[in-house]
Amino acid sequence: MINRQKGTYDIYGKEGKVLKQISYVVDAYASLYNYDYIRTPLFEATELYHRSVGENTDIVSKETYDFKDRGERNITLRPEGTAGITRALIENKLYGNRNDTIKLYYDGTMYRYERPQSGRNREFTQVGVEVFNSDDVMIDAEVISLGFNILRELGINDVEVHINTLGDKESRSNYTESLVEYFKPHINNLCPDCQKRINTNPLRILDCKVDREMDIFKNAPKINDYLSKDSMERFKKLESMLKILDVDYVIDNNLVRGLDYYDHVVFEYITNYSNVTLGGGGRYNHLVEQLGGPELPAVGFAFGVERLINEIINNQEIEEQKLDVYIMSINEEEKMHALEISQNLRLNDIKTEINGNNLSMKSQFKIADNAKFLIILNSEELNKGLVKVRDNATKEEVSVDESEIAEYMLGII
Ligand code: AMP
Repeated sequence: MINRQKGTYDIYGKEGKVLKQISYVVDAYASLYNYDYIRTPLFEATELYHRSVGENTDIVSKETYDFKDRGERNITLRPEGTAGITRALIENKLYGNRNDTIKLYYDGTMYRYERPQSGRNREFTQVGVEVFNSDDVMIDAEVISLGFNILRELGINDVEVHINTLGDKESRSNYTESLVEYFKPHINNLCPDCQKRINTNPLRILDCKVDREMDIFKNAPKINDYLSKDSMERFKKLESMLKILDVDYVIDNNLVRGLDYYDHVVFEYITNYSNVTLGGGGRYNHLVEQLGGPELPAVGFAFGVERLINEIINNQEIEEQKLDVYIMSINEEEKMHALEISQNLRLNDIKTEINGNNLSMKSQFKIADNAKFLIILNSEELNKGLVKVRDNATKEEVSVDESEIAEYMLGII
C-alpha cells in the first residue's frame, strides 16, 4: 500500500462537509463585501518568494518546496497566497483604473516543509483576501472586520483579533535598530535561531516561540515608543473604527508575524481558550513596488482552513443532512422507474437516493432509515400508474400518481 506523504491529509466525512461550509460562507461574505475571486498558479518562480516573503524568513530559508523542473527552471510550490496574487496583479495590470480599489479573494493549497504537528501541516489550505490601491485606514478596519465576521458566521465566537502596528518605514527601521542594540548584550542567552535573527531579521526575535517567556523579552523596547506621530494617529483611528464595527480586539505589541513585507497594522485571529492562531494578515504598502509594479498600497489576511475545520468540529454539533426521499426498487422494471423518478425529484431540489447496490427490501429499509420519506415501487401498482409514499416517522402510506410525484413530494417536504 502507498501511504499519504508526511504532513498531508485526506479530508472527507465530517471534515469534508465543514470544508465545503467554510467555502460557502467565504464566497457569500466575499460577495457581500464586493470582492472578486482570483486563482493563481500552485507554483511560481522561486525568486518571487525570495523577493516578497523575504530571504531571511523561516518560510523562505527553511520551509519552501523548491525544485528544478525538466527545463532547469527554479520553481517553488507556493507557501502563501499574497506573493502570487501581487505578481498576477502586476503582470495582468489589474490596476488599470488608478481610482479603483482592487478587492480580491482566493483559496487554495499551500506548501511548507515544516515539522508536522497539531495544526501545522506540509500541505494546507488558506482562504484569504487582498485589497490593493487603498491606503485608507478604513479599509484596514473593513478587512479585519470581514475576517472577524466570517468567523462569527461560522459559529467561531471565542476569538480575539490581536493587533499591532509596525509603523511606517522610518518607525520600523528606528525600532529595529533599538531592538538590535537591546538584544546584543544578551546574545548568548538567545536561542540559535534568534542569534542569527539579530543580524538578519531582528523583529522576528519578538515572536520567537522558544525565548518568548524570558525576562529579557518582557523588558525589550516597545514599538509604541518608536512610532512617528502619523503612525500613532493611524493606529488610534483604527482602534475607534474596530469599536464601531464591534470587533473584539486586543493590542499585542509583540506581534510581528513571520513575513517580511508588512508595515503599519499586523493582526492575528486567535482563539481565547486554546490560543490557536486561525489566521493573520496586515498592511503591505511596498510589496507591489518591490516586485516591479507601481506604487500601490495593500492590505490582506489569510485563514488556515484546516484550523477552522478543527475549531468547528471540536466545538459544534455537525448535523447529518437527512435524505428527503429514498426510492425502493427491486426488479429491472422498478429500477427504471426509480431512476426516472429520482431525476424528477432531484431536479426539483429534493434530496433523493436510490437502491444502487442491488439490496434486498430489508436492507433498503435499513439504509432508508435516515430518509424523511420512502417511495416504494412495485410492479402491480406501477402498472396502474401509481407509487406508494411512506412517511418514515408516522409510517403512514398513501398511493400517489407517478406522473404527479414531484408536485406531491414538494407539497409535503
Ligand atoms: P501565514 O501565511 O503564515 O500568515 O499563515 C496564515 C494562517 O495560515 C495561519 O494563521 C494558520 O492558520 C495557517 N497556516 C500557516 N501555516 C500552516 C501550516 N503549516 N499548517 C496549517 N495551517 C497553517
